Amino acid sequence: MTLTFDAKQMAAELYDGGFRPMFIGGQWVAAQSGEVSEAYNPATGAVLATVPLAAPADIDCAVAAARQALEGPWSKFSPYERQTLLLKIADLFEENWERLSVSDTLNMGMPIMRTLANKRRVVGMLRFYAGMATALHGEVIDNSIPGEIVTFTRREPIGIVGAIIPWNAPTAASIWKIAPALATGCTVVLKPSEDAPLTPLLIAKLMQEAGVPDGVVNIVTGKGSVAGARLAEHPDVNKIVFTGSTATGQSIARAAVGNLKRVSLELGGKSPVIVCRDADIDRAVPVAAMAVFAHSGQICIAGSRLFVAREIHEEFVAKVGDFARSLRIGHGIDAETDIGPLISARQAQIVESFIASGQSEGAALVAGGTRLSGSLYDKGNFIAPTVFGDVRDEMRIAREEIFGPVISAMPFDTIEEAVERANASPYGLAAGIFTQNLGMAHKLIRRIKAGSVWVNMYHALDPAVPFGGMKMSGYGREGGIEHLHEYLETKAVWIQTD
Ligand code: NAD
Repeated sequence: MTLTFDAKQMAAELYDGGFRPMFIGGQWVAAQSGEVSEAYNPATGAVLATVPLAAPADIDCAVAAARQALEGPWSKFSPYERQTLLLKIADLFEENWERLSVSDTLNMGMPIMRTLANKRRVVGMLRFYAGMATALHGEVIDNSIPGEIVTFTRREPIGIVGAIIPWNAPTAASIWKIAPALATGCTVVLKPSEDAPLTPLLIAKLMQEAGVPDGVVNIVTGKGSVAGARLAEHPDVNKIVFTGSTATGQSIARAAVGNLKRVSLELGGKSPVIVCRDADIDRAVPVAAMAVFAHSGQICIAGSRLFVAREIHEEFVAKVGDFARSLRIGHGIDAETDIGPLISARQAQIVESFIASGQSEGAALVAGGTRLSGSLYDKGNFIAPTVFGDVRDEMRIAREEIFGPVISAMPFDTIEEAVERANASPYGLAAGIFTQNLGMAHKLIRRIKAGSVWVNMYHALDPAVPFGGMKMSGYGREGGIEHLHEYLETKAVWIQTD
């Protein structure tokens, strides 16, 4: 694939190191304290821009603006008007897709071909929920005394939604939370990650251009432990939708207890991929490898525990190793790059410590395992795609989420054993199965504890298909009709008619 536009030129025009204000109540503002933080390009270490460092007082302002909008002009929007607005936003996203993709690539490292390819997940989500805006309805429950009592339900917006997102997919994570909120008539205060705050601010510009009323969408930049924590505990926020690590999800759930706000959590994972003896090896190898290496393993659904039938383990793992070595590692902004940098020096150190623990615990290093150096890599955080074979379940690399380009491959002898070991994790986000036996696939689908299961494929996500986790990968679903229910309250109405 080749680019049809000059991404590097666009990158140079987008960010010049200058200040980018945040967006509260339709105004572009600095933090009240005047404090700022820097937003980096993880491939080069360059400062792209500075953004406000919001304190609790700034969050309070954003929540007040969201409340004013919720009870003011936004409450007068009919479902049809909300639908029209979402469609307008979708059109603007389509027109600006290259800019949004370049911005994401610059600020969080994902290769440009991947950020560009996410269009359907984002624009499609806006259009999907635009369609749903006019399809929301309550029910008449005809159980009461005929002619005397009418009973029905209304579906009402839950209110102010606090959205807290991670750094690894800012555009998609923002829209997967904002679109259902607009469809249902809620208002939003969104806090991006301090590691990738820039694209959500571009998104705010598009919201303003589309005519979203002031205060309906507010984007506040700041630290998780300060701005995020205030949003999670805020007594006037009605719901938190969170994507991020399990540890942060737990602290958000605790903070939300004060006003019993609703919470949905999309958290971490350690997803199993099971390759059966009869799998089509040559088709499965690149898919299983990219189940981890896409975005350098910095994806919640990374299929990082690779269970392979013992009969084919050696051949399969050797081929995954060859595939890993064939990947082109570089700056995300280069169209030829398959694998970009890790988000930060800190994350690279964490991944290196996992690699060291794999080696010291006796796993066989099949590919990678090193930090890259040389002029292309010296200023960023690049780790070679790494494959370990003969991993044992008790090793750290088999148990903990690494969030880096590391595959832990393990042989198994029976399917029963593979299922048991796949499920022996506190997480339950996703799973992959490779087999040509339909019966076997269905047996595994039923038994695996995970919110998404892919058979002979991986990674697919669609606006109409619910996505989310089981166990410590969280609760609630994003995408699909189910997601809308998370933004609605049900009110039962009884009317004496006689
Ligand atoms: P993180 O939990 O460190 O941060 C996520 C967000 O929470 C950030 O905006 C951060 O500022 C904020 N935050 C941090 N502490 C907070 C607190 N005490 N109160 C409120 N907000 C707080 O996660 P990350 O490093 O940005 O992202 C990586 C993690 O996210 C991984 O565990 C990954 O699996 C997970 N993730 C999950 C999904 C999913 O859909 N399940 C998707 C992407 C990432």
